[in-house]
Amino acid sequence: MSADDQIKQLQKELRVLKHEFERLKENRVLLEQRWLFQTLHEEIEATNRELDIAREAAEEANQSKSIFLANMSHEIRTPMNAILGFTEILSGLIDDEQHLEYLSAIQTSGKSLLGLINDILDLTKVETGKLELEYEAVDVQSVFLEMKHVFSQRIRDKGIDFIIDIDESLPSVLILDEVRMRQVLLNLVGNAVKFTDGGYIKLSVYNRYPEEDRSKLDLVFSIADTGIGIPEDQMEKIFDAFEQQKGQSFAQYGGTGLGLAITKKLIEMMKGEISVESEVGKGSTFNVVLKHVDVASVSKSELERELGIDVESVVFDHASILVVDDVAINRNLVNGYLEPYDFTIFEAENGEEALACIRIHKPGLVLMDMKMPVMDGYEAAKISKETPETGNIPVIALTAAVMKQSEEAIRELCDGYLRKPVSKMDLVAELMKFLDHTVAEPEPVPAVSESLEPEGVTSSEVHSDTALENLPELAQILETEIHPIWEELKNSSVITDISDFTRRNLELSNKHEYAPFTSWVNLLQKHVTMFDLDKVHETLEELPGLIHAIKKHISE
Ligand code: ADP
Repeated sequence: MSADDQIKQLQKELRVLKHEFERLKENRVLLEQRWLFQTLHEEIEATNRELDIAREAAEEANQSKSIFLANMSHEIRTPMNAILGFTEILSGLIDDEQHLEYLSAIQTSGKSLLGLINDILDLTKVETGKLELEYEAVDVQSVFLEMKHVFSQRIRDKGIDFIIDIDESLPSVLILDEVRMRQVLLNLVGNAVKFTDGGYIKLSVYNRYPEEDRSKLDLVFSIADTGIGIPEDQMEKIFDAFEQQKGQSFAQYGGTGLGLAITKKLIEMMKGEISVESEVGKGSTFNVVLKHVDVASVSKSELERELGIDVESVVFDHASILVVDDVAINRNLVNGYLEPYDFTIFEAENGEEALACIRIHKPGLVLMDMKMPVMDGYEAAKISKETPETGNIPVIALTAAVMKQSEEAIRELCDGYLRKPVSKMDLVAELMKFLDHTVAEPEPVPAVSESLEPEGVTSSEVHSDTALENLPELAQILETEIHPIWEELKNSSVITDISDFTRRNLELSNKHEYAPFTSWVNLLQKHVTMFDLDKVHETLEELPGLIHAIKKHISE
């Protein structure tokens, strides 16, 4: 081989070697990468395992903290009630001014301690997701108006004006958590009163409809005051737990800094937002928007009267009715209206479910909400009407729509049309057009039914003539005077308030001598005297049932 050829051969081998070297280099990089990846993966897995253990430990700790707080608050509340209760009794027994002052200090501190415990418990519940909202049909206007009444004494003492401005178009009944709604208002209005010494407080309420269909609204309210105001750099901070304005005098304003933290969390749970505008020395305005609040299907007057009105003289022949609405509370409200009649009720949450139910059960009539997810009421009604086997089943639209166009379209498609909120009268009148019925003569008032007799009460006691004569008056007082106080008290732990309430009921039972009521009051009194709060609440729970039984008895 010539030298040239040898050089060429060597160059070729060199190229092959170079190529091989490059390949090995790539492999090495790949191996390194794979190794690195493997190591990283193992490290990530190990970290994840550690995180899981830490999270479980944190969850456990949080759980223990909640259980501890719940137990602690219960344990503190029970003796606190005894302290407050005996202080109340003592204050009626002593005359010495100085001693009375001491007692009053014990009472004030006791009450604020109870308030603090309740706040801590609420915040813990919200933070650990333990607080569940309980939605129901709420007469919102009266919750707003109540604020003026609750703070009337302090407003008068401070010489400030309280203005309430509620949009006239606000529907009478909305579906909300009444207790939490009231708690939010009490916090915000309470703060406005506390931090304002002159001028006014204005509570304004508006509603906005985000959609053409009026079955949902945005509830907008604001609480404006002409008080001390809030510096700009602290407007966000005050919504955090235990935060107050910097340098704020505790002696003058007290407080814990928990109210706004709870308020904000409750509002967020209710799918809402809160914000504040303020100028130091001029005042503050807290703005709240609760989004997509459901409008109730029934009207306020009907809620107040509940069952037992004249329309009950209508006796329907047995029939089955399908109630279609995506909001469960609305279905329950309509069911409540229909309860006294001999109806079998079916329920559906949307048009699709409704069609399946119509096909299977062939109900005598359908009450159809129009705006629903999955399949709306128009489509379901249309399909049902076009199907030969179901076409003759009457469909009554129950809708909150207000546009003239949509009303006409509904009327064309359906056999009847009811506008939300519907009254019982309107509902029954509409049903009478389609279902067989008779109208019964009013019956004379019978004697007290056996079912009302409580254990250990003899018939002669229950059948007392005075009791019977006084029954409607007693029912009225219980409903209009006692029940509203009960609403405020049923979750209260302040034994002095419950004690006043029991005293008022004792007076009533002495006057009206109605055995079931008397034995209820006596039981309540016994538990109040023993400061047994659990039993007190158990007994308080029985009041609505008692009122209902008395009313039922009157109408029998
Ligand atoms: P608390 O009232 O118990 O201190 P909050 O959480 O309700 O607790 O309020 C936190 C702080 O926000 C208050 O201490 C006060 O500094 C400020 N604040 C709240 N509302 C107002 C208001 N209307 N005017 C001025 N400052 C307010």
